[in-house]
Order: sequence, then C-alpha cells, then structure tokens
Amino acid sequence: MDCFTKDERSAIMRKVRSKDTTPEKKVRSYIHRLGFRFRLHNEKLPGKPDLVFARKKKIIFVHGCFWHGHDCKAGRKKPKSNVEYWGKKIQRNLERDKLNLEILKKMNWEVLVIWECETKDESRLSVIIEEFIGVKK
Ligand SMILES: [Zn+2]
Repeated sequence: MDCFTKDERSAIMRKVRSKDTTPEKKVRSYIHRLGFRFRLHNEKLPGKPDLVFARKKKIIFVHGCFWHGHDCKAGRKKPKSNVEYWGKKIQRNLERDKLNLEILKKMNWEVLVIWECETKDESRLSVIIEEFIGVKK
C-alpha cells in the first residue's frame, strides 16, 4: 500500500517534475523565446545534434559535463564505482564528439557546444547563445 496520501503523492510528483529542467530544455526554451526555429535531434547529421538551424547552417550541442568529459568540476567528478568502465565510456564519447565536430565542420556547419555547467548561469548562457545565432541588438 502507498504510504502517502493522494495529495502528498501529487506534491511529490510535482517536485520531481519541476526538477526536470535539463540543460537542453533550458537552452531550447531560451532560443524559443528569442523567436528562432530549429530542428531537434537531426539523426541524419553526425552526433545527432540537439538543435539544428538549417537555414543558418548552425548547430548547437548541449553536452552533459560528466558524460562528455568536460574539463570542469562536474566533468572531473569520478564515479564511485566501475571507475574503469565509466572512464572508458567517457573517453569514447570524447573521441566520438571530436570526430563528429570535425565532420560537421567539413560539411560547413558552424557548431557550438554548450556545456551543462554553462546553462546554470542564465545571463552568461544568453550571451553565448545570442552571439552564436547572431541576434541583432
Ligand atoms: Zn562543465
């Protein structure tokens, strides 16, 4: 039996959901507010870019610091178990990211990588995004 009342349960669910603002969603909603249109997760392009601005020939990846081995506090954090397994996995991600970036550049795409840690500071994030997409002020 559920140890929470119905109201308690839904309060918990609300809390869980409000925490679900992933870095990618933050970036997406910001760009929406700027009024730009983009495609999500284009599978035809290397690395399945998170956001694709086809007409501008621009791509944004939003990378999790841990998974993609960012050189920051979160990225350097070591897992508590299976250190070797995760180390190898992250190394593979790094190599794949690098290769995808090279291919995309050869295809004349302009690529921006936004790191998870960069999405925490919204004013900085907005500068990064606006500069990249070319918002006229
Ligand atoms: Zn980071």
